[in-house]
Amino acid sequence: MARNRVGVIGFPVEHSLSPVMHNAAFAALCMDDWLYDCMAIPPDILRLGLREPMQHGYIGLNVTVPHKEAIMNFVRADETAKAIGAVNTVDFRTGIGTNTDAAGLLNDLAANGIEIADRRVLVLGAGGAARAAVYGLARAGADVAIVNRTMKRARRLVEQLRYTADIDGAQVMTLDEAATWGMSLIINCTSVGLHPHPTQSPWIFGVPFPAGVTVYDMVYRPANTALMQQCVAHGGRAVGGLGMLARQGAIAFELWTGVEPPIEVMLAALRGALEEKGEG
Ligand code: NAP
Repeated sequence: MARNRVGVIGFPVEHSLSPVMHNAAFAALCMDDWLYDCMAIPPDILRLGLREPMQHGYIGLNVTVPHKEAIMNFVRADETAKAIGAVNTVDFRTGIGTNTDAAGLLNDLAANGIEIADRRVLVLGAGGAARAAVYGLARAGADVAIVNRTMKRARRLVEQLRYTADIDGAQVMTLDEAATWGMSLIINCTSVGLHPHPTQSPWIFGVPFPAGVTVYDMVYRPANTALMQQCVAHGGRAVGGLGMLARQGAIAFELWTGVEPPIEVMLAALRGALEEKGEG
């Protein structure tokens, strides 16, 4: 049995691509005594689902839906996790829970040469991924606006970040208002367009699509979403969210192992897994 074990807990979790990505990284670096596995933990036994791996020598865990918020009751959330209101990575050696989504997004924007400081950035969505995005973008100096189907939820997100992270200034607007706001970047943090609904777009057909903007779509199944296609059809540049998935995982990898993550290996493993499912 591998000496150093890590993994992901969620419910359901079988669809998670994290095991493929991390185990490919361990293999590429000949880290034969490391193993990443996948554990389905129902919400009512979350405490047990955390305690058992810890007592059996796991180094840490990733945490996915629906446990990202509830897990905060059982770990010491660091400043980032507290600000975002969710934990996606735990290190059992310190008992600390953090959130790597914001840094994963910012690292992937940087890797793609997408500038955000002093730029207008429109965030579509107001769920957990949007909260991480707005937190990261605002701290990196972007001028952020949020559009969400449920406007009340977007306003709540702004209020929360004002309270948890002292972030002021993110504005909430309608999609019609956003169409003429003059942003250089749109980040899709909704689940619209996700497999198996690849023809749906969060940019409602009928609202004029701004010309020449960059779209970053957190959705990575399919690789080329309807929103990305709209963007390119209007002279813009579109980037899918697989790199964010790899880079938020890479931060956890480095935290647990102390080893520089082989990001290209992780990305290739993700692409391979999606292609195998016919969703690449
Ligand atoms: P969530 O908390 O459930 O939020 C879902 C968001 O999508 C909400 O803003 C919701 O709007 C919106 N939405 C859902 N169905 C809609 C519809 N039919 N029309 C308009 N808006 C709709 O989910 P999440 O955790 O934030 O994740 C959002 C997406 O980001 C998921 O697809 C997830 O896979 C992806 N993600 C990707 C990465 C990555 O590494 N690439 C990381 C994190 C998340 P309402 O508030 O109106 O319901």
